[in-house]
Amino acid sequence: MGKEDAGANSEREYLRKQLQYPDWYIKLEDYLKTQIYPVVHDNPEFMRQRNGFYSLVEEMLDKGGVPLAREGLNLDAERKPIDTVVIHHTEENPDITLERLNAIGFVRQYAQNYLHGDVWGKKGLRGQPIWSGHFRDFGNGQQMTFFAYHWLIRPDGRAERLLEDGEIGHHAGNLNLESIGLSFSGNYEHSTPPVEQIEEAAKIIKENYSFVENARILGHCEVMEARTCPGDMFLGQQGWKNILIAEIEK
Ligand SMILES: [Zn+2]
Repeated sequence: MGKEDAGANSEREYLRKQLQYPDWYIKLEDYLKTQIYPVVHDNPEFMRQRNGFYSLVEEMLDKGGVPLAREGLNLDAERKPIDTVVIHHTEENPDITLERLNAIGFVRQYAQNYLHGDVWGKKGLRGQPIWSGHFRDFGNGQQMTFFAYHWLIRPDGRAERLLEDGEIGHHAGNLNLESIGLSFSGNYEHSTPPVEQIEEAAKIIKENYSFVENARILGHCEVMEARTCPGDMFLGQQGWKNILIAEIEK
């Protein structure tokens, strides 16, 4: 084992130890704020490190190794009538497993909210074990889930529902309560998704959210400043948002 591997291993063991506490996100607050939460694009080394952390969290969630809350408030009670669809890309491997995506949501969305201690105006959550109130069976019985989006669409046009419409996803800041999050699996930071993927997104919107006006179908970058999601080919005359809207209008 090289020196570097030994260092990476001892960091992993350190992180693993902290994750066994219900308030792990406070113990790792500095690490999360410097290594995990900054918005970074096109930096393979950063992404490699992050993926190492996500894989550790995924492994521990799978084994029940991270203490979660056993009960909690109905956070979805704050859900408002849906009037907006927000388009995202995962900026991850297009074949990402749902378990990995779930671990990412746990770290990026839920732990960040619990650090602030405030979810939908419910205060005093900082330091508490994390609770989502969302459950799903991955094949080992019901387990708590932390998905940020309602839908995940693969490049070949297969779609998976991650949240029910009545469940709130953490994907669009101030618009979370009244919006649906629809995510393109893959990294489209500088490219256009395959036509099958765009067609499936249009189909999901037509079949489920025909009551949402076209003007309220927005990219993440249109609703949150300083976001580039779903990538720099989305907007503009030649942008793929126009293809999506044209498909919806067909
Ligand atoms: Zn996004």
